[in-house]
Amino acid sequence: MQIVAIIVSLTLTAIAVPYVALAVRKMLSVIRTGGPAVGRTDRPAARTVTMLKETFLHTRMLQWTYVGLMHWFVYLAFVILASAVLAGYFQLFDPSFVLPIIGHFFLFEWVSEGIGLLGTIGIIALIIVRQKNHPRSLGRSSRFFGSRFWQAYFVEAFVLLESAAILFIRGAEYRLLLLEGSEYATRFHFPIAGYVGDGLFSGLGEQGLENAIFAIAMIKVSLAMIWLMIIASNLTMGIAWHRFTAFFNIWFKRESDGSTALGGLEPLRIDGKTLDMEGLENLEEEDFEKLGVGKVEDFSWKGILDFTTCTECGRCQSQCPAWNTEKPLSPKLLVMGLREHAYAKAPLLDADPETLTDEQKRELERPLIGDEDLFGVIDPDVLWSCTNCGACVQQCPVDIEHVDHIDDMRRFQVLVESNFPTELNNIFKGLERKGNPWGMNPKHRMDWAKDLDFEVKQVGVDVESLDEVEWLFWVGCAGAFEDRAKKTTQAVAELLNTAGVDFAVLGDGETCTGDPARRAGNEIVFMQLAMENAEVLKETKAKKVVSTCAHCFNTLKNEYAEFGIELEVVHHTQLLNRLVREKKLTPVAPGAGAAEPAKTITYHDPCFLGRHNKVYEAPRELLEVIPGATFAEMPRNSEKSFCCGAGGARMWMEENLGSRININRTEEAIATGADQIAVGCPFCRVMLSDGLTAKQDSGEAREEVEVLDVAQMLLASVKREPALVGAALEAEPNAADEANPDSISDTAEAGPPADTHTKPEEVAGTSDEVPKDDPAPTSQEADEEVAAEHDVPLADSGAAKEAADGGGVSTQASREELAPEAETPDAAPDEPEKEPDEPASEKDSSAWDNVGAVNTDLLPDSPASSSSGDGAPTPDPEPEEGDVTETETEAVPASDDGPGSDDDADPQEASPAEEPAPAPAPAPETEPVEEDAREEESGEQPSASATPVADDGEIVAVEDAPTTDPTSPDSAPLSDANPSGADVSEAATALGRDDETDTEGGSAKG
Ligand code: SF4
Ligand code: SF4
Repeated sequence: MQIVAIIVSLTLTAIAVPYVALAVRKMLSVIRTGGPAVGRTDRPAARTVTMLKETFLHTRMLQWTYVGLMHWFVYLAFVILASAVLAGYFQLFDPSFVLPIIGHFFLFEWVSEGIGLLGTIGIIALIIVRQKNHPRSLGRSSRFFGSRFWQAYFVEAFVLLESAAILFIRGAEYRLLLLEGSEYATRFHFPIAGYVGDGLFSGLGEQGLENAIFAIAMIKVSLAMIWLMIIASNLTMGIAWHRFTAFFNIWFKRESDGSTALGGLEPLRIDGKTLDMEGLENLEEEDFEKLGVGKVEDFSWKGILDFTTCTECGRCQSQCPAWNTEKPLSPKLLVMGLREHAYAKAPLLDADPETLTDEQKRELERPLIGDEDLFGVIDPDVLWSCTNCGACVQQCPVDIEHVDHIDDMRRFQVLVESNFPTELNNIFKGLERKGNPWGMNPKHRMDWAKDLDFEVKQVGVDVESLDEVEWLFWVGCAGAFEDRAKKTTQAVAELLNTAGVDFAVLGDGETCTGDPARRAGNEIVFMQLAMENAEVLKETKAKKVVSTCAHCFNTLKNEYAEFGIELEVVHHTQLLNRLVREKKLTPVAPGAGAAEPAKTITYHDPCFLGRHNKVYEAPRELLEVIPGATFAEMPRNSEKSFCCGAGGARMWMEENLGSRININRTEEAIATGADQIAVGCPFCRVMLSDGLTAKQDSGEAREEVEVLDVAQMLLASVKREPALVGAALEAEPNAADEANPDSISDTAEAGPPADTHTKPEEVAGTSDEVPKDDPAPTSQEADEEVAAEHDVPLADSGAAKEAADGGGVSTQASREELAPEAETPDAAPDEPEKEPDEPASEKDSSAWDNVGAVNTDLLPDSPASSSSGDGAPTPDPEPEEGDVTETETEAVPASDDGPGSDDDADPQEASPAEEPAPAPAPAPETEPVEEDAREEESGEQPSASATPVADDGEIVAVEDAPTTDPTSPDSAPLSDANPSGADVSEAATALGRDDETDTEGGSAKG
């Protein structure tokens, strides 16, 4: 037996060792095909500590406590196994062999046996977990959907056998020592294995026991060698390889302080050099193709190491809002797809083309982004479904940096391929021309402050610089233009004023931080905006900034240092919490005569505040100190919070695939029984408000439920206002807002006039969607009822009015007063002429027609065409000087010219990405915002090329975009519909994504 055991073990070892060495070399050569990874070796000591903590203490795995614990046992068993396998070689020659010094040290013995037992229990538990969560019963809601099961079974079987082998071999050792009369043959030295030995080997004599030890040692060594050879043959077997690569992947993670790759995005780099505007302007022609990631080898080596390390555990997939709403994006499948492609392509890169098979040539030429027809590695639907919520990065136990990879691929699609969802044209143009994604006139940025009963200082008007005040209040585009967000802005301003905080705003000196552009891949527009803002911030001597928008907060805090401005940035909930603690703000119970039942409040964590910046406590603490309210947490909260669906510029994109993310989240909020859903971000507020309205319209949510910013709730409490009434009041924009064409109450209204608008007939047929012409439940009558019920005055009388006028809780305008203007069919003639009967299918299918070099010529039709007949759109009654005017609108080709006509009519109208290679001018088609401002100052009409939004053969001013009934800010869904194509991964393709809807666009593309 001994000879057989020695021959088998050593032969397998002799084959396995060089084979594995060769595999490691191959793996390294694949990883080396990636480009340079910048900043991955700083602070080596801190990196080492992080790596040791994450591996040996399983800090990230333990986010899932039970499974993490089981995996920790298995991991430790694996480490112990390595020493057991080593000891096995010696036991082949000497069955009584023990490791020197520690071999009979009781602690080592206890740990070995304990880990052997726990490892066995752990792997059995994990096997059960995998089986209980198997896709055969759970379908795509299984986190293992798409993971490769044979690989998992292989690894599980190996760990089970090897863990058990520790106990078996020690059991045989115990019996042998017992026969030899050794002093170590006691239960003290063999606390568990003694029982195993008695159970399995008690009938064996000395020779039999020695043979048992030889056999078990052979099995241990042979299994380990076979395991190594199998994984060496499968370099993409992450479930096995991560045991070795995770150490490196964690050590080289983006953040040397051990935090996740969230917050700011990695800057745009070429060959490891960060690109600034000057670099972009002087870009060599051959470098143009290196903007972003267009081929798998464009990822950095760390990116390819990421893909190599994925264990296919599916934690990321289980949390991904896109995947959880039946979209084709799974971060796991995306990483797996990239890994398969990287390992298939890399060895072919230097091969002689003559020697390649057809299949290899196909792999080599495979586009990184492309639908099924193009044999793309990643489907466009996958790429553009991401909300950048960061749940995948937060969950990943081996620190894979999904968001950076996704946005790098988006950059290439936008900057080089000019291939992106058509809706993004509109925000890019709005950002370039007007400095905000809606393309609103910047001179209305201060409108939110008009109704306040105190002065809001503006830099350049009331104060010279920010040196004269403590805080810069960064209002943000939504905070300045979006009706619901304006209430938050007003509430924060009033609270700061009440607390005696000295602050100022930039007014029209502020432009968008650039977050939507950057997250959509348009780094050029982002840079423009960031440079402009950084310049203003430097000139005005900004140091401390408070922001109500989680996206502005994140960008200012984490991304503006690249532009030479370091700021102390806080979210408004953090500052308000500080003020409450300092007793400068005192929340109190509602005033006498306004008794209302105790309210339940739940809180939705904005991804860019929570996961991206770890601000979880401040808003919760604020909500918890509001008297008369009970705080109810949603099941998915804090790190595991579920996205609202608006991040990653998704706010401006269609959502046609699967179900709607905002509805999913709203349902969860409603299920807590909350009367108020608190948010801390204007994007979340829009999404959840729309979700809530949909649910209320379908009778699945109580009419009293409302979505409010934390600041509004605090303000109501500080002012002793009944929050319910305050909320009811705020739910409708005030009269001034309604009448103001530069105020928006729904992103779909003032946003892109393309197919981000749901057609009324589409809405009517979709339970999750809100009929546009169905007024929001917050009518005057409803408020009167609420007021009567709670015995409180309406805002148009007495103290409530005073409070409302001054407090960010607006005076309610009657729906009747506003309705004629909002709903008059006379609005229709002001809309650009459209072909009235353009079929919906054509509109939908055109969503991805733009795959190719130029986008605007293939834009889908405008909602104007679909809604002009229903009287819903509201024209801009008074085009303002400097705004894009109807004249300009008319100057462009009619919509029925069809694809291409737009481009023909106005070749200057191409978006940045539309500028074809090879000259990657920084913002190829933009007119700087300053130029716009100049136009406004001079009163000149901007040229037709300045018209911000192109739309299916016509160009429509963003301000002129049709709006729905403005008295119902919550009445229309933000946007829906999504472009389409086929799925990237085998697994996702296998879903049979219910949609040939998915592929509508895809087919149109071909
Ligand atoms: S960032 Fe969010 S939406 Fe994007 S892949 Fe990760 S989990 Fe999914
Ligand atoms: S990317 Fe990370 S979380 Fe997702 S499956 Fe791979 S290892 Fe698991």
